[in-house]
Amino acid sequence: MKRKLLLIILDGVPLRNWARLFGNLEGWVANGTAQKWTMTSVLPSISASCYASIHTGVTPQEHGCTGNGNVFRIKQPDLFSEIRRAGGTTGAVTHSFWSEFFNRHPFDYVRDIEYDEPESTTINHGRFHSMTGYGHANQMTPSDLDLFATLTNLARRFDLNYGILHTCTLDSMGHRFQHESHEMDHACFVMDEMLAPFIPRWRDMGYEVIVTADHGQDARGHHGGNDPLQQQFALYYFGDAQGPDAQTPLHQLQLAPSILNRLGAPIPESMKADPFLPA
Ligand SMILES: [Zn+2]
Repeated sequence: MKRKLLLIILDGVPLRNWARLFGNLEGWVANGTAQKWTMTSVLPSISASCYASIHTGVTPQEHGCTGNGNVFRIKQPDLFSEIRRAGGTTGAVTHSFWSEFFNRHPFDYVRDIEYDEPESTTINHGRFHSMTGYGHANQMTPSDLDLFATLTNLARRFDLNYGILHTCTLDSMGHRFQHESHEMDHACFVMDEMLAPFIPRWRDMGYEVIVTADHGQDARGHHGGNDPLQQQFALYYFGDAQGPDAQTPLHQLQLAPSILNRLGAPIPESMKADPFLPA
């Protein structure tokens, strides 16, 4: 493969929280190290539907995932399958939905909690968590530091060409405390500080890095519908390509073909959106 790339998905972070609370990311934009755009999610702006669209580049109306209660093995080509087809090695440190969508369904808690499958046509190295028991009083999310470290560990040990990390911490905090709260200010601040040291480290390891969300949340911590607070979020790109003007609005369906471009993998017929990063 031409390059290596890590995709970091912070679940459920609305546009307004990025600029106000992620000082490290914003500092890298200010000094020209990172490029930043506003991206709009697909509809419904619900997690599972967005995960499937992030990786396939097709709408929920096409891939068929209508929400978190409707998870199955997606049929369309996705980032894992196309990167494998082009000879790359893939890794995932994510919610178990990603394993179910792109490798096998249903999720077997013992077999699938972690696997190393060099011959897989999709995910070679997976480390998953299911958040079983998740609710208002118990978030059931791992520490984000542990997740960042696990991705770094996989990238080093297996020389991943593509790795995705996804964490639900901030989505859960938003559902619990909404967005005008000390708790949310602090949670975003902690996420920014935990993530920050890994970005130069990943760059030193030869990776381009994208940090973004799957969807936003409105003032009540809700998402799923057609509303800028629920659908819009920031996308930060650390890499050598020059993207469009910072004011250019991006759509979530552009993410998958852009990543394939950077890695040097062919874009499948099913991904029709224009890449915002060149090959
Ligand atoms: Zn989500």
